[in-house]
Amino acid sequence: MNESYRHIETQLVHAGEPLPRIAGAVEMPIFQSATFEYAGEGSYHDIRYLRINNTPSQTALHDKLATLEGGAAALVMASGMAAISTTLLTVLSPGDHLLAQSGLYGGTHDLVSGEFPRLRIERDFIDADRRDSWAALLRPNTRAIYVEAMTNPLLEVADLEGVVQFAREHGLISIIDNTFATPVNYRPLAAGFDLCLHSATKYLNGHADIVAGAVVGNAATIESIRHRANHFGGSLDPHAAFLLKRGLKTLALRVRYQNDSTQRIAEFLAAHPAVVRVNYPGLQSHPRHARARRLFAGYGGVLSFELEGGERRAEEFARRVRIPAVAPSLGGVQTLLTRPATTSHAGLPREERLRLGIADGLLRLSVGIEAPEDLIEDIRQALS
Ligand SMILES: *Cc1c(COP(=O)(O)O)cnc(C)c1O
Repeated sequence: MNESYRHIETQLVHAGEPLPRIAGAVEMPIFQSATFEYAGEGSYHDIRYLRINNTPSQTALHDKLATLEGGAAALVMASGMAAISTTLLTVLSPGDHLLAQSGLYGGTHDLVSGEFPRLRIERDFIDADRRDSWAALLRPNTRAIYVEAMTNPLLEVADLEGVVQFAREHGLISIIDNTFATPVNYRPLAAGFDLCLHSATKYLNGHADIVAGAVVGNAATIESIRHRANHFGGSLDPHAAFLLKRGLKTLALRVRYQNDSTQRIAEFLAAHPAVVRVNYPGLQSHPRHARARRLFAGYGGVLSFELEGGERRAEEFARRVRIPAVAPSLGGVQTLLTRPATTSHAGLPREERLRLGIADGLLRLSVGIEAPEDLIEDIRQALS
């Protein structure tokens, strides 16, 4: 890596970009080619072909993502779930056991609880806030521990330092989904995690116009994940790779602005009489605010809240806001509002959803890059 790329803002723009510039172009062209001339490659995994994840559009992203997250290597994939499933199915074999945080992103939860039993991969869900409860779940075949930087939609912040230490003490591979924090707010590999995953669909791309995923870690593990990926086939196409690389260039600007706007909106909501609860790690009232302040450079662009009057009032609020689109997903330039009971957690039985703390009327806001004053004014009129 070029040693003048010391700060993340510079790395986002320049790391991984080809030098010398191709035909002098200041932006790398899109390499819209499935296959490339044979140049004496000795192994299947070295043949240059889009599915083999080694073409210029892909390798430029690998270098950029590895630099941002401070890892030796990275692999970009066709979606966050492609990155998560390929990584877990590389690290885990039939007969192995996984410790996974409870309340994971729905797709990951369904993968671990719905698909793993069929593959004879065992798992237990842990309360990732209670380190003293984990050792009792260890088995001789436990291989890995899996957590998220912040949970969706309650924005819980697990004992991430404890996870790293516990993994080291017990010889486990520690894996984190860093989608909600991004490398602007948290750098898991520097904190001691072995593997860092992303749904690049969210903040990394940032414009809600592609799906993509990534995994970053040490060179040997990433190479073995790449070999599985070459077989499973979820590779990112060159045009999506171009959009992702373009989106990444503004990541630091977007995320810092979103951190600030979301803090302001969280404080506005917390002070509003119609609001009974706000979940945001940047608020003093968040049960893990002190931990979040120690771990993160910023608290991110997602918050959730409950209104007086529950589900009926939440539906009315969603009808009355004018700026946010009512849509699932997060991390884009446009503000999005969802009611998790009807989207991300609609598949759960109501009792279980309530037990997890996700009320019927809970609303989740992914704050975009609109003016926070406009968003607050819009929220004020929708609550009035
Ligand atoms: C969206 C999301 C995923 C899945 O990513 P896709 O790109 O939709 O496959 C995984 N983890 C988290 C935390 C997410 O928000």
